[in-house]
Amino acid sequence: MSNVAGSPSIQFLGAAGTVTGSRFLLTNGHVKVMVDCGMFQGLKELRLKNWNPLPIDPAEVDAVILTHAHLDHCGYLPRLVKDGFRGKVHATQFTTKLAEVILLDSARIQTEDAKYAAKKGFSKHNPPKALYEEIDASKAIKLFSPEPFKARIEVAEETFVTFHPSGHILGAAFVEVEFFGKRLLFTGDLGRNQHPLLVNPELIPAGKYDAIITESTYGDREHTPESTDFETAINQTVARGGSVLIPAFAVDRTEVILVQLRELMEAGRIPRLPVYADSPMALKALNFYREAINESSPEIRPEIIAAWKNKDPFSTGTLVELTTVDESKTINDPQQPCIIISASGMGTGGRVVHHLRNMLPKARHSVILVGYQAVGTRGRNLVEGATEVKMHGEMVPVRAEIESIQSFSVHADGDELIAWMSTVSEAPNQVLVVHGEAGVAETFSDRIKSQLGWKSHAPHDGEIVRL
Ligand SMILES: [Zn+2]
Repeated sequence: MSNVAGSPSIQFLGAAGTVTGSRFLLTNGHVKVMVDCGMFQGLKELRLKNWNPLPIDPAEVDAVILTHAHLDHCGYLPRLVKDGFRGKVHATQFTTKLAEVILLDSARIQTEDAKYAAKKGFSKHNPPKALYEEIDASKAIKLFSPEPFKARIEVAEETFVTFHPSGHILGAAFVEVEFFGKRLLFTGDLGRNQHPLLVNPELIPAGKYDAIITESTYGDREHTPESTDFETAINQTVARGGSVLIPAFAVDRTEVILVQLRELMEAGRIPRLPVYADSPMALKALNFYREAINESSPEIRPEIIAAWKNKDPFSTGTLVELTTVDESKTINDPQQPCIIISASGMGTGGRVVHHLRNMLPKARHSVILVGYQAVGTRGRNLVEGATEVKMHGEMVPVRAEIESIQSFSVHADGDELIAWMSTVSEAPNQVLVVHGEAGVAETFSDRIKSQLGWKSHAPHDGEIVRL
């Protein structure tokens, strides 16, 4: 069959000019392998892109490789399956576990949104449709093939993949892909060197790469150093008899916040307040992190395994896990100071919306935002000083104190990405910069050219680059 093959190329089917929809197609005209299969998220013009058909028949894709379980890297998978994909989906053990939870939740949200649009009479589809449903997510999950870190696995003809810990979220990897003699490195989302639980991003395996495909989320800026703002905000709120609401992404951010709260309490720097973890998805993810520590997964820091195996690094001694909606309602508008961690991280949906509605009008409470807040979200409006926000069809006044803490980021910044890439043993033939907002990928690409002296380019959506 190789006689019909052409030369290997990569096509950018997403994450070009945006940070979402990561999908990269490797093909030689005969074998087709996708690296990441993400969903477009955020502004409506991006979300509508999820409905555009791929330029190839999904049934022709031989295999999918996932770098990690975030929706913008795996969320399109059920649609790919719905449209005919039948190959295997290769990912690390904890990526498959987290992706299962995330994809089923995504299918449920899509179905609910379609029902809501039908009721309200707005949709570009008539009747409104979900991008995919739970049955499609379940079919996709059945195709998962959990793989170990650091093992070279054959995923298709003359195609091999090796996963390496990237320190971004549990399960996350940067991947080395060998495709018909070409050697490629996909960074996925690269973490930083200060995750409290996950090992630092591993160094790049030695040798020559034909291309490095790198993310550039924070490629044009540097993170602010750690500060004491977080504990100050908590202490000031408690001093006036209020409670703290922390909207947090269900996977990883909740874990990082819990570890920080435990450490602050142990050091006596904040009082031992009740801490409520109020998000069903976050609680499932929390158990996967505990499982990874207990089974000494190679992506967990050795010192964490030594100190916390079969113990609970997330327990402040006051941690209450709220599973049901009724349990969640018991902490509506708390009268005694406490800390509530709830998803979603940008206040766009989930149980946190009810807490915001109850707590925002009261000046004694605080809302501490600990993650990236996309344009158009309630979280972003709060950070920008909104005096009222719309919730469930009514305007809710904002009297609670709003704090935004930047130091919890799990993405490497520009300096960190450059430092990590420069550890490669030989200059790569080219760097392809993706996963950055418009302008950011180009800025970061220019920096690679000037600082590292490598050939670099930020591909546009749909572009095909010869390897
Ligand atoms: Zn990610």
